[in-house]
Amino acid sequence: MAEVQLDRLRKVYPDGHVAVAGASFTVADGELLVLVGPSGCGKTTLLRMIAGLESISDGTLRIGGRVVNEVAPKDRDIAMVFQNYALYPHMTVAENLGFGLKLRGRPRAEVARKVAAVAESLGLQSRLAARPAALSGGQRQRVALGRALVREPRVFLLDEPLSNLDARLRLSMRVEIARLHRQLGTTMIYVTHDQIEAMTLGQRIVVLDGGMIQQIDTPMALYDKPANVFVAGFLGSPAMNLLRGTLHRRDGWRLACAAGELALGDALPDQAWAAWRDREVVLGVRPEHLQPAAEGASLQARLEVVEPVGNEIFLNLRFGELPLVARVAPRSLPEPGSLVALGLASPHLHLFDGASGTRIG
Ligand code: ATP
Repeated sequence: MAEVQLDRLRKVYPDGHVAVAGASFTVADGELLVLVGPSGCGKTTLLRMIAGLESISDGTLRIGGRVVNEVAPKDRDIAMVFQNYALYPHMTVAENLGFGLKLRGRPRAEVARKVAAVAESLGLQSRLAARPAALSGGQRQRVALGRALVREPRVFLLDEPLSNLDARLRLSMRVEIARLHRQLGTTMIYVTHDQIEAMTLGQRIVVLDGGMIQQIDTPMALYDKPANVFVAGFLGSPAMNLLRGTLHRRDGWRLACAAGELALGDALPDQAWAAWRDREVVLGVRPEHLQPAAEGASLQARLEVVEPVGNEIFLNLRFGELPLVARVAPRSLPEPGSLVALGLASPHLHLFDGASGTRIG
């Protein structure tokens, strides 16, 4: 079993900076878990603590049930792939792949067998005699992955392994990593700041901000039910529209924002009236749930820019000073500059407390 268990893991750097403020979660054996968050949220620090490259200030880390807080990195049975992987330029692909095993004194025949197997699973068979300079960026990245794979670790740690690749290669390597994970069934913890990478790769995602875990769940659960305003705004592209205002009722629910008033009709439940009246909230509406409406519109916004992206179109609008985005199917569109009446898809609205940012409905 290669379950990775974090129990109130904390990192305080010598200068007093709290990079990870008590992280608790369990990565199941064979799971691909993604750590995602903006720059500086502590995701690399967390991964380095799991790897043993950074000391643990407080809390307990278990791998396969064993407490490893004080265990040296090389004895944790993990392998790590970094963003800035360095291949040995004077060695061939085969030598690069086998180097770690050779260093550990593994017999030559075993090294050759394992290198051949890894090269096959990564589609590198025909490149085994090449040197890194002769490889494409994607092939180099595959060698870096292969070097970790060949050691057959129980846990794989990947720190932004694709961020040096161009957009197209990133996409194909993402699929490659997902395929490898399925094939190997190894526990993987994958760090990225890219929410699309997180959504497409992760079986579960841990969203971090300011050293604190904001939410842990499956990609779709995070998307459909973000626990707070941070997660709501971080996951999804284009981002969720967030409208801050005060709830009241006059002919149904209304939200008074600085930009104007929204008519929400019966989009919010009647029974919530007592709890929500005059409350400051943040209303979240995903771009696909904000649609031009002939009748029953909630607000009017000025269309500024139309962005066609193929099978759909992003409408960039302005409601007072507030920028909004609607995601619509290609069809005849209003002219930029005109006022567009917009409706909200009521079952899909998100409501957060104005002060704490926590989801309330
Ligand atoms: P990025 O995506 O930019 O790599 P990250 O989410 O991986 O960011 P970390 O590198 O884990 O973030 O850093 C978390 C916080 O800890 C940051 O505020 C960073 O400035 C701080 N930090 C990192 N290393 C040290 C250190 N050695 N001493 C003090 N503070 C540090």
